[in-house]
Amino acid sequence: MKAEIISIGTELLMGQIVDTNAAYLAGQLPALGVDLYFISQVGDNLGRLADAFTRALARSDVVLTSGGLGPTEDDVTRESIAAALGETMVVQPELERHLRAFFTRRGTGMPERNVKQATLIPSATAIPNPKGTAPGWWVEKNGRIIAAMPGPPREMTYMWENEVAPRLRKLTGGVTIASRLVKTFGIGEGKVDEMLSPLLKSNNPSIGVYAKPDGIHLRVTAKAATQSEAEALLQPMVEKVLATMGETVWGFDGDTLETSVGALLKAKGLTLATMESCTGGLLASVITDVPGSSDYFKGGVVSYTNEVKAASGVDAKLIAEHGAVSEQVARAMAAAVRTRCGADIGVGVTGVAGPSEMEGKRPGTVFIAIDDGRAARVFPTFWPGERSVIKRRATTSALFHLKKLLEGRA
Ligand code: ATP
Repeated sequence: MKAEIISIGTELLMGQIVDTNAAYLAGQLPALGVDLYFISQVGDNLGRLADAFTRALARSDVVLTSGGLGPTEDDVTRESIAAALGETMVVQPELERHLRAFFTRRGTGMPERNVKQATLIPSATAIPNPKGTAPGWWVEKNGRIIAAMPGPPREMTYMWENEVAPRLRKLTGGVTIASRLVKTFGIGEGKVDEMLSPLLKSNNPSIGVYAKPDGIHLRVTAKAATQSEAEALLQPMVEKVLATMGETVWGFDGDTLETSVGALLKAKGLTLATMESCTGGLLASVITDVPGSSDYFKGGVVSYTNEVKAASGVDAKLIAEHGAVSEQVARAMAAAVRTRCGADIGVGVTGVAGPSEMEGKRPGTVFIAIDDGRAARVFPTFWPGERSVIKRRATTSALFHLKKLLEGRA
C-alpha cells in the first residue's frame, strides 16, 4: 500500500511552524507495513490544494492530511477534496447537532460559519474528534482513501491512534514489520554505502543508511504477514550486515556507547579517569550522563592549557619536545590521570578543535590514549569539521576505542 502525506497550512510555508505532524505520521507508517512515497506542504489555497489532491490520488493508495479543517474561510481542506473528486459538500443534520451541542457545553452559541465543519461529501464519512470541534473525513473512492485530520498535533495524534491507524491496519491485512538498528563508528557514510552496495539493492529486507553524531547507523527492516516471519526474514540480513561491517559495529537499537562502556567497566570491576584537552570535559560529561556512573568513573581533569597539563602530571619537556597535540602527550595524559586518580584505566584526549591550526597541525587532528596499567594504546584520528563536531567525534571515538579494548580484555 502506497501512502503520501499532505500537510496543509500557510503557516508551514511561511516557516512559522515546523511540520511535526508529517514527521509523526511518517514514523507511524512502517509499523503498519505502509510505504510512504511523498510528503508535501501546501498553503491554504483551494486551487493548489485541489491540484495536490488530484495528483496524490493518481499515484497513491492512501492520502493522509492534517490541517485546514477549521471553520474559517481559509480552512479549505474539505472544499479541495470535494473539488478534486467532483462532489458537493452537504450539511449533515446529525453532525450539526453534535457540533451545536459542543458549543452549548462550552456555554457559547455556535458561530454560523462553523456549520461547514458539519458537512460531508457522498464519498466521505466523519471521523470522530473528541479533542476538538472538527470531525475528520474518511474518504473512499475508486479504491483510493483520504484520511483528513485536524492540524493541532494533540487532535491529530488522537485521531490517528484511535481511528485512522486501526482502519488502515485492517486494510493492510495485518502486515507487520521487524527492524534492527546496527550502529557503526569509524568510517564515513560514502564508504559504508559502498561496502553495503550489493545488500542495498534488496527490497525486503531493506537497509537504510543514516549519518548520526555517534557514527553511521544502518536500519534493517523486514515486512511479513506475521512478526515471527518478519524476524526470520530480518535475521540473515542483519548477519550479512554484521559480517560486512565487522569491527566497526559497536551496538544495536537503543544502545549508546557511554552505557555500553559503563556496563563493561562495571562487569569487569574496573574504574576509569579522564584527562581532556580539546574536548573540554565533554567526555567526562557524556560518561556521567549514565545513572550509576559513580560506580566506575573516578573523575576527570580538563587540562586545557600546557600549564594545567604540567600541573596535572604531564612532563613539560614532552610538551616542549612534541607539542601538546601529540601521541606522546596523549599517552602521558592517560598515564598521569590514571595514577593521580587511582583508577584502573586512564584516557587522555588532546587535539585541535579549530578553526585555526595549532603547532602546524590541522583542525580535527586528535590523539586519544588509553592506558590500562598493562599497556598504553594511542589512536591518532583526523575528523575535520566545526569545533562542536570535532569535540563530539573525539568523544565518541574515545568511547568507541575504550569499548573495543574492554571487550578484548580478560
Ligand atoms: P483548527 O480547527 O484548530 O483551526 P485545523 O484543522 O484547521 O484546526 P490548522 O488551522 O491548519 O488546523 O492548524 C491549527 C494549528 O495546528 C496550527 O496553528 C499549528 O499550531 C498546528 N499545526 C497545524 N499543522 C501542523 C503540522 N503539520 N505540524 C505541526 N503543527 C501543526
